[in-house]
Amino acid sequence: MSTYPRHRTTCRLCDSGQLELVVPMTPTPLADAYVPREQLAEIQPCFPLDLYQCRACGHVQLLDVVDPRLLFGQYSYFSGRSGGLVRHFQQYAESVLQKTVPAAGSLVVDIGSNDGCFLRFFQERGLRVLGIDPAQNVARAANEAGIETLAEFFDGALAERLARERGRAQIVAANNVFAHTDEMAEMADAVQTLLADEGVFVFEVSYLLDVIDHLLLGTIFHEHLCYHSVTPLDAFLRRHGMELIDVQRVTIQGGSLIGTAQRVGGPRKSTPAVAELKALEDRRAMHDPATLKAFSGRIEAVRSDVSSLLRRLQDEGRVLAGFGAARGGTLLIYHFGLGNRLRFIVDDSPDKQGLYSPGFHIPVLPTAALYEQRPDDAFILAWVHSRSIIQNHRRYLDAGGRFITCFPQIEIVTRDSPPPDPHAAVP
Ligand SMILES: [Zn+2]
Repeated sequence: MSTYPRHRTTCRLCDSGQLELVVPMTPTPLADAYVPREQLAEIQPCFPLDLYQCRACGHVQLLDVVDPRLLFGQYSYFSGRSGGLVRHFQQYAESVLQKTVPAAGSLVVDIGSNDGCFLRFFQERGLRVLGIDPAQNVARAANEAGIETLAEFFDGALAERLARERGRAQIVAANNVFAHTDEMAEMADAVQTLLADEGVFVFEVSYLLDVIDHLLLGTIFHEHLCYHSVTPLDAFLRRHGMELIDVQRVTIQGGSLIGTAQRVGGPRKSTPAVAELKALEDRRAMHDPATLKAFSGRIEAVRSDVSSLLRRLQDEGRVLAGFGAARGGTLLIYHFGLGNRLRFIVDDSPDKQGLYSPGFHIPVLPTAALYEQRPDDAFILAWVHSRSIIQNHRRYLDAGGRFITCFPQIEIVTRDSPPPDPHAAVP
């Protein structure tokens, strides 16, 4: 039995002990642990969130592991509630179907299937679908919506049972979970057990190159243990009997990678994209710790700018609120020293309203509070959505409010600022 939290000492992909601290971060509580009023007396522990790089294979990862039962038992995020994500999953599912052309009745298994919104597109095409998600509440919602879902953790024993009882799967999917387990080797072996000889394993993960280029600080949280790049990932899959045959960069969540793998020597040809991205990673020296340390330096430069700005705003007596009770906001609040400065946080989602932020317990109010309480400035915590937040709340600017965005650099947006460029690169 493992005890948590624990600090591993070997690379999650290749087992090497040559690990180097490349991006030190401020410890935070679990990023999504917004609490109700009844729990305000409980202190929420902070866990380390430092990024390390393996000098043997280049893989970037967290080494501090929090109890997965704490992280995934009651997950509050429902994919199907986000229109953008549903459209993305639809396009993604269609491209998988086009590439793989599975026979009617083939089995599709989605690991970390959430509310079933990805599987639905396969079910509509006459395929058998099965979701696996350890969060009881999302599994229940998926079952009620007609997507059969097991509320279990995916492991070797479950993979064997499913292969025996239902046959092996033509498509195994793992979206945003193939970076969320400490037991990557066990997970890859379990996928292989479940995968039909001619089947494909498709997965979506946040892409390290985008994390670096777009300073995607919001992707750094305790569930997200692996920050994948193609070179170490392909080597890892090969050690577990699979090979990458395609990779595609997509803009979802600020920049992600959709990987397609098959059993080594399977029937499908690899696309040039795999070699192309490996070459790009080489050119960008992504597996050299100096590159990640430079990334850390850019974060520290923003942090120092934010801290001078906060001092200035405090001297001027301005009231500051936060915008977006997003998971990614927790690290910003801790790393940038916003915890004692935000009077409240506003969020559009009724699920978050009335709760309190992880650790600092800043109240989350409906966005109407921007207009009723009129804070002088609103610091955008859900900063990948800065553009749409600013567009949707012109009225706050018109009334004299200001938005503060901090990436790629600090910007104070007022009613006189030019509208954001809709064609600007993501984010
Ligand atoms: Zn490694």
